[in-house]
Amino acid sequence: MDRPRYSWPDGKRSAACFSVDVDAEAPYLWANRTGLPPYLGQLEQRRFGPREGIWRILDMLDRVGVKGSFYVPSVVAELHPDLLPALCARGHEVGLHGHLHEVVSETTVDQFTAALDHSLQVFQRQTGSAPVGFRSPAWEMTSAMLAVLKDRGLRYDSSLMGYDHPYQIGGVVQVPVQWQIDDAIYFKFQGGGADRWPPEPARVVEASWRDEFQAGRDYGQLFTITVHPWISGRAQRVTMLERLLSDIAAQDDVWFATAGQIADWHLSTHDGRFVAEPGLDLLTAVLETSA
Ligand SMILES: [Zn+2]
Repeated sequence: MDRPRYSWPDGKRSAACFSVDVDAEAPYLWANRTGLPPYLGQLEQRRFGPREGIWRILDMLDRVGVKGSFYVPSVVAELHPDLLPALCARGHEVGLHGHLHEVVSETTVDQFTAALDHSLQVFQRQTGSAPVGFRSPAWEMTSAMLAVLKDRGLRYDSSLMGYDHPYQIGGVVQVPVQWQIDDAIYFKFQGGGADRWPPEPARVVEASWRDEFQAGRDYGQLFTITVHPWISGRAQRVTMLERLLSDIAAQDDVWFATAGQIADWHLSTHDGRFVAEPGLDLLTAVLETSA
């Protein structure tokens, strides 16, 4: 079968997007939303992000000439009010990431909507404009939540993995992510005996990410790296990212863009193509006839 290939601007072979989830304290606050324990260990690990990590990443992006997409829970924007204005001033895209980094499986649609509306207000107040993109904490979504994004005028979601180029699901453009090129699964180490393996050396991960980028070029892949400042703001990891991103940015046949630019590209050139259905009704019917 002749499968359609995704096309990129100016005949580029593939695309790359550098995305940053600025989680900081938010997931810890969500996990402890019924009451904070007295400990500082995990909080301080996470505060390394807004204190140091994100600024190192921003300086690195300036040096390699790449603009990224930064997804910020609104509680993080409120706790660190210099953050969103600095990201905008340096030419990066800012997008929504919940208020308290609400985990989808523990959140009702009403709670999701309230968090979204609150974050829209915070972003509007701190940046003077409304963001166009959303990324779900922990990369989970439901059809109802996609419908809320659409209703609030969000142009894209970046949480799912049904293609490795943009597509549409639930009536919303999807700028897909991929676990293979997320920093947390290799580097996140929280201590306290909960971790199952030590953090990978950055050079090991770099080799794997280079392989994924290189292999993906033959498929016209969108290579969406995801990092967290509290994790990848550490010295050897920022240095690794600088080597990797500068090499990718130097390729003439790769389009390096923000997720917002990629969503706009999809809407203006591929609208109505690569449309996926959530399809839960069909699968429910299949289960009923199989019972
Ligand atoms: Zn997150």
